[in-house]
Amino acid sequence: MNGHIDVVSPEPVAAWTHDPWAAEVVDDRMYGRGAMDMKSGIALNLMLPRLLRDAGIELAGDLIVHSVIEEECTGNGALAASRRHRADAAIVTEPEGMRFTMAHLGVLWFRVRVEGRPGTRCAPGRGSTPSPRRCRSSRRWRNWTGS
Ligand SMILES: [Zn+2]
Repeated sequence: MNGHIDVVSPEPVAAWTHDPWAAEVVDDRMYGRGAMDMKSGIALNLMLPRLLRDAGIELAGDLIVHSVIEEECTGNGALAASRRHRADAAIVTEPEGMRFTMAHLGVLWFRVRVEGRPGTRCAPGRGSTPSPRRCRSSRRWRNWTGS
């Protein structure tokens, strides 16, 4: 079970109808930054062991619960957690339009090596920008993406 505890900025705070740093419940709905994305999923993940026990469900293996950071901007939290633990399956309780999904958008990290000659704004003629057609990384990228 995986979820993140970081949130994106609540700015502009003046646009909120409720304090973004509170957890105000109005008409059975909680208002607050991250209440849905994704404190709700974190709460479920933390309650799951008890829910399974109360339902008399025994898992064939261990249940691992991750609460990670750095998901709103990089994905580094889940990446670090996935490197520490191996699992048969993973469930991310990220809210996604109030429905289950089989996949989720994420972040793809890769390294691109571009050959050229560095220049500066003061002397732009000294530098050379590599042609994408001559760049091996660009060719690999096109082959990989089919573009
Ligand atoms: Zn999220």
